Amino acid sequence: MDYKEKYKTELVVNWHITEACNYHCHYCFAKWDKQKNELLNDNESVSKLMDEIQGLPSILNDKYMTEFKSVRLNLVGGETFLNTRKVIRIIHHARQRGFVLSAITNGSRLNSELIELIADSFSSIGFSVDSLDSDTNTKIGRIEKSKVMDTHKVLLDIKAIKKINPRIDIKINTVVSSLNKSEDLSRFIEQVAPDKWKVFKVLPVLTHDNNISQDDFARFLERHQSFSDVISSENNDEMTDSYLMIDPIGRFFQNSNVGEGYLYSKPIPQIGIRAAINEINFDVSRFHGRYKNKRIDMREIS
Ligand code: SF4
Repeated sequence: MDYKEKYKTELVVNWHITEACNYHCHYCFAKWDKQKNELLNDNESVSKLMDEIQGLPSILNDKYMTEFKSVRLNLVGGETFLNTRKVIRIIHHARQRGFVLSAITNGSRLNSELIELIADSFSSIGFSVDSLDSDTNTKIGRIEKSKVMDTHKVLLDIKAIKKINPRIDIKINTVVSSLNKSEDLSRFIEQVAPDKWKVFKVLPVLTHDNNISQDDFARFLERHQSFSDVISSENNDEMTDSYLMIDPIGRFFQNSNVGEGYLYSKPIPQIGIRAAINEINFDVSRFHGRYKNKRIDMREIS
């Protein structure tokens, strides 16, 4: 299957399985209502959500004349791998239904068991890395107690995954904000040699703190232009309404166009995915524009 065909027929659904994270980045958009009833805590609800997602390609094909044939379930957080046992259960459910799997992680919880599982079961894995500098990572909030994010461990984990499965796609996600806008990540990107480097301008969904101008963002991209083959960049406008995103309690959600915060559907396990998709603005032309322009993935920030 060629590249375009793949993105025409593979429906990517981002499920933010948990809000919990060991870091506290200032601009983190993974904030819902700190719901206690996250679906990942209940095996039956996970199974029900998976069944509903399985039916989504044919619902969209009927409604929008799309040609989706399969689902790629992209697991995101919070920190996706924070609850190791629970995420492993979700992975098993997804595999049973034949979903292609991918995930985004901050890398902090990966151990040899997860590295092996990811290498064996996933088509791609993305690491969110905004800075290589400990002070900057501390300012961003990438610190757990007194332990700052270890980007060298991220590099070693990526090499270990690639050793087991050389065909897996490696992605790096970077959010550019006022804290890292002047940084040069070239050395790290060279060492990782990712298949894709997604560079996002910080999105003022929940706060305008650490916002940057379009010029700042352009300068960051220019500094890294030697990686233009693998960079896919997105500004805020391109990110609106063009993602299918599910929150930890099973609701579709989208950025609000009229202010800060999100718009939600009712929970999918309660009303079914056909009714839930009708409660959000899924812009199919933007969705398709993404693969035409090679800006092909859903919003994937851990
Ligand atoms: S690592 Fe990701 S999920 Fe965690 S606080 Fe930072 S942006 Fe949010």
